[in-house]
Amino acid sequence: MLGWVSQQLKDYGVVVTTRLLGRVAMSRVRVGFANKLLPLKVVCPCCGWRGSQFHDYIEAGYSVRKIVCPQCESHPRHRYLSLWLAREFELEEKSGVALIFAPEKALARFWEKAPHLKVYGIDISASRGIEILGDIKDLPVESSSVDLVWCHHVLEHIEDDRAAIRELHRVLRPGSGELIVSVPMELGTTTSEYGYPDPMQSGHWRMYGDDFEERLAQAGLIVQTMNFRLAEEEYLRYAFKPERFYVCKKMGD
Ligand SMILES: [Zn+2]
Repeated sequence: MLGWVSQQLKDYGVVVTTRLLGRVAMSRVRVGFANKLLPLKVVCPCCGWRGSQFHDYIEAGYSVRKIVCPQCESHPRHRYLSLWLAREFELEEKSGVALIFAPEKALARFWEKAPHLKVYGIDISASRGIEILGDIKDLPVESSSVDLVWCHHVLEHIEDDRAAIRELHRVLRPGSGELIVSVPMELGTTTSEYGYPDPMQSGHWRMYGDDFEERLAQAGLIVQTMNFRLAEEEYLRYAFKPERFYVCKKMGD
């Protein structure tokens, strides 16, 4: 919440942020009542919270109803990816070095399940409780040394995202290293560049389209589009829709 407040203050100033805080407080009261009075309907697979509905996500530019876990602050994509980590990825078996970009509180406990993985949180800002302070376009990391890169909803914040993708390719271990990546996308479109970080879109430089995969491949990555599906009832229980994400590798020796 504190991170959210400081980001809103930076982007929109005191007046808009104060108004936003009022809206958040009203929404919290409404959802709080619903969670006391209405039957349990949703579950957060990241932290186990159960309730009638998730909190609303509110920013100056947009808001989305019933998506944020009141306990661990997971968003739909965290809940979706947490199930993929738990059911498909075999995280417990992974070893080596992992770089987690902009590490999310909601997924923190999953990294603890990999006893053979040396996990480093990394960000350009020191506010997230990270181990490495670094720019994704110029990482303080040796080439071909990283076994797992986790990079979700980061590249849209980077002006020169192609330079960032090249850098992710550089640090990845050839052959076995895995880059797991996603960005906000509108499927069926091509990437639309704004030319500036749009404050009404959380500071994003662009909305990606189907050609995101080509940007990854242009950096030399071998790209696999993931197709992790669940039963319809699970989408309702965990309150998400599947989101496209990719597992990329670097050509081995
Ligand atoms: Zn949660």
